[in-house]
Amino acid sequence: MATPIDRSELESRIHDLARQLGEAAISIGGSLGTTHRRCGRAGCRCATDDLYKHPSRLLNSKVTGKTKSIYIPVAIAGEVEQWVQRRQKMKELLKQIDSLAEQIIRAHVPVQKDARADRPRRKSTTRTSSRSS
Ligand SMILES: [Zn+2]
Repeated sequence: MATPIDRSELESRIHDLARQLGEAAISIGGSLGTTHRRCGRAGCRCATDDLYKHPSRLLNSKVTGKTKSIYIPVAIAGEVEQWVQRRQKMKELLKQIDSLAEQIIRAHVPVQKDARADRPRRKSTTRTSSRSS
């Protein structure tokens, strides 16, 4: 790690990220995919042409280890893409918050170690618990 950053600087960065999270609106987890399927209408090309199916958007997500896919109606596809992107942004913000909070924790440890190292009195006094008989 390079030079440690001031704690208040780290905290203000975290607050900034948390504020961005607070502004987040509707979002959804998962990844977008494409599949092809028949629409079911009798006169449609997909009913007569064996090789033709309509491209369709899917939202894939893992639910307790299993992959779950839901069809996204064309009319709402653009919106859902935004939700997915927004969720990815939120995840990214959380990751950054994790990293900054971790830096605060790590920066804290050496301070305590140094304070203890200043007065090495190991052998001289052994603290005995008052409960020992
Ligand atoms: Zn069709």
